[in-house]
Amino acid sequence: MDLSADSPTVGVVGGGQLGRMLAEAGSPLGVQLVVSDPTPDCPANHVAREQLVGAFDDGDTLRALAERADVLTYEIELADPDALDAVSEQTGTPVHPAPDTLRTIQDKLVQNETFAEAGLPLPAFRRVDDADDLRAAGEELGWPVMVKARTGGYDGRGNVPVDSPDEAETALAEIGADDGGAVAEELVEFERELAVIGARGSDETATFPVTETVQREEILRESLSPARTDEGTRERARAVARSVLDELDGRGVFGIELFEREQEGGPNEILLNEVAPRPHNSGHWSIEGCVTSQFEQHVRAVVGLPLGSTRRRGPTASANVLGEVAEPTRARLTGVDEALAATDAHLHWYGKREVRPLRKMGHVTAVGESEPPLSAVREAVETLGFAADRNGEEGRSR
Ligand code: ATP
Ligand code: MG
Repeated sequence: MDLSADSPTVGVVGGGQLGRMLAEAGSPLGVQLVVSDPTPDCPANHVAREQLVGAFDDGDTLRALAERADVLTYEIELADPDALDAVSEQTGTPVHPAPDTLRTIQDKLVQNETFAEAGLPLPAFRRVDDADDLRAAGEELGWPVMVKARTGGYDGRGNVPVDSPDEAETALAEIGADDGGAVAEELVEFERELAVIGARGSDETATFPVTETVQREEILRESLSPARTDEGTRERARAVARSVLDELDGRGVFGIELFEREQEGGPNEILLNEVAPRPHNSGHWSIEGCVTSQFEQHVRAVVGLPLGSTRRRGPTASANVLGEVAEPTRARLTGVDEALAATDAHLHWYGKREVRPLRKMGHVTAVGESEPPLSAVREAVETLGFAADRNGEEGRSR
């Protein structure tokens, strides 16, 4: 592919931190980004060539995006596959990954059914349309179960463990599945959670080194690579990731979330939790930790450049900076000098104007020598906090 001053240009639906890091990764290659996001001054706006302000599914905004771009992609599952198909047809701008892949993944029931039919190992699951279905699912799968809204959940919102039949109604109300339906899954007693970033280019695929992810309150807090498990398990995780890639259409990177579970008398088994058709929080460590980051890989894949090496440069750990406030407050991060001075940590601050409870505000990564420097990134994150905003509203700093 030839490069020029203003092309290729990638149009991205969504301008959050993932869009921002895509723009950062595209820049050295001369790849520009235009993003669309309903929030003016979104995180990616600080880095991308241009932001179009409009809803993720707004036809006019998507059309304007497609007209400015050589290829369209999305960094959020709320993108609308029908609208993407329509605009691609009108303008001739291709969309990667394929909108049909997004359609499959958006609905957790359809996603599970698709991967189960393909023979991939998944937690046992049942379709749930009402509280009676949930009670029946619990009887069949055994209590407790995990119930998930079919659509719209993220960062653990939309998921809740259910201990007994008495909790069926409240659980469905809590995840807001009253209209869209839900899926119940066996509650997996996993050893640890793993993730693999998989990539598909024009005529090749690649997988990144296996990541171990640490969740608290169902939200990803930390990632480390190599995962603290045996090499055989890591290889089986990559094999599952390769099978997932075989089932999905279109170019780009995919975040593949896995459970590692002990098996009596055999090696630990790998179960597929879910797939994101985009760069994923579990792969942020690859910015410093791999020869090619997941963001550069996505850019390369969607514009049609060759995929880069996914080799790990060294053992790497990353920790999220989450909103530690009681209620939404203007964002001001404190402790930055101390955090940066104390370790080899790299700080990524997403530039969000408002901090909200548990909102992803940034992350910290460090590459170590012999093992992932988890305590170093933890310490760096612990020195960071959120100050009271200018109007004197109290943000709880820590
Ligand atoms: P995110 O956007 O943060 O990835 P999500 O809301 O899409 O999250 P899931 O990944 O399905 O939801 O679930 C979030 C977390 O809840 C998982 O990482 C895992 O810790 C836990 N979890 C999900 N499903 C199960 C299950 N069947 N058994 C045990 N734990 C589960
Ligand atoms: Mg998840």
